[in-house]
Amino acid sequence: MPYLGRFAPSPTGPLHFGSLVTAVASYLAARSQQGRWLVRIEDLDPPRVQQGASDLILRTLTTYGFEWDGEVVYQSSAKCQRAYTEALQQLMPYIYPCYCSRKQLQHTTKQGQFGTIYADTCRHLTSTLNKPAALRIKTPDQSFRFHDQIYGEYSQQLHADIGDFVIKRADGWWAYQLAVVVDDAIQGITHIVRGADLLDNTPRQLYLQQLLNYPRPQYTHIPLVLDQQGQKLSKQSYAPALALDVHTIHTNIFKALVFLKQSPPSTLIHESTQTLWDWAIKHWTVQLLTHDYSQPTRTVS
Ligand code: GLU
Repeated sequence: MPYLGRFAPSPTGPLHFGSLVTAVASYLAARSQQGRWLVRIEDLDPPRVQQGASDLILRTLTTYGFEWDGEVVYQSSAKCQRAYTEALQQLMPYIYPCYCSRKQLQHTTKQGQFGTIYADTCRHLTSTLNKPAALRIKTPDQSFRFHDQIYGEYSQQLHADIGDFVIKRADGWWAYQLAVVVDDAIQGITHIVRGADLLDNTPRQLYLQQLLNYPRPQYTHIPLVLDQQGQKLSKQSYAPALALDVHTIHTNIFKALVFLKQSPPSTLIHESTQTLWDWAIKHWTVQLLTHDYSQPTRTVS
């Protein structure tokens, strides 16, 4: 099967070292298999999009030496938005409007291992109300499992662990879960390599793939880079933007390879960045990560 991978940053701020690690892993995984690699800008949530961030992200990727295939896809494009609407039509039998306000949700939801679990408050409403509604999808009392290349077997009991989840928000914006599944399927993505913060989102995505009759990609979740306080580096916590000067670029790629346990020889520090990339593509071994981080049976019930 030809390999088709992707990197899908949200333009809520510039790329930081954690994003670089994910981008490097997904790029090397694709290129080491002679695969193609796409970039998709996940500008799905306009209130959170930062002005100029998409351009800066693409410029950063180019400056670091990433070469993507084809055109960059933007989730805000009319084509993507149409595709989400079409998917929603297919999902209609499983969808219901949810009128719960943020305050109501605070009082009715219970806290689960993965966040709040919806209490099915609006699942059984018999009439529709004349006010903006989020759209939720009914989750089955069923376990969704998959094999992650690094974390091993992973499963969730969707209704008990997550509950009915939102696929379109009351303010009209599409939810990440739906958009990512639709775009990955339309683009024909075969392998998803992304941050481990999304591991517990995957069963929801498997469920949507099943309802929409989409093929299931293979998943690899990359361990997260933490800061000194043990927090995930993120745009929300103002992780520093990746520097764009030649020297720091080279060091950052080298450091990303070290984080990814690829053990680049120290002589590569003095070589060109192209030589570093060539070495990394040739030697990419995901098992080196598996060995250190695996939790072979991480089953959540
Ligand atoms: N847009 C997400 C992020 O920036 C990644 C989504 C994905 O890879 O599925 O964290």
